[in-house]
Amino acid sequence: MTAAPQAAPHCAVCGTPVSSDAQRCPSCGLSRPAAQGGSVLGRHGLWLIAAVLLAVYVVVLLIVSAAR
Ligand SMILES: [Zn+2]
Repeated sequence: MTAAPQAAPHCAVCGTPVSSDAQRCPSCGLSRPAAQGGSVLGRHGLWLIAAVLLAVYVVVLLIVSAAR
């Protein structure tokens, strides 16, 4: 089996490849874009945001339906 070489980390916002010791993304200026060697908002973070947005949406629907 061949292990792929470790890919250069990418910015979590714009996806620009940045060096692991870079303090800021050269494209969008995100501070420490690859500090942990991964994206700041991983899949769990995105799902968490989606769940929160859905919860807020449901709450707003309930409030609007109750107000009528
Ligand atoms: Zn960036």
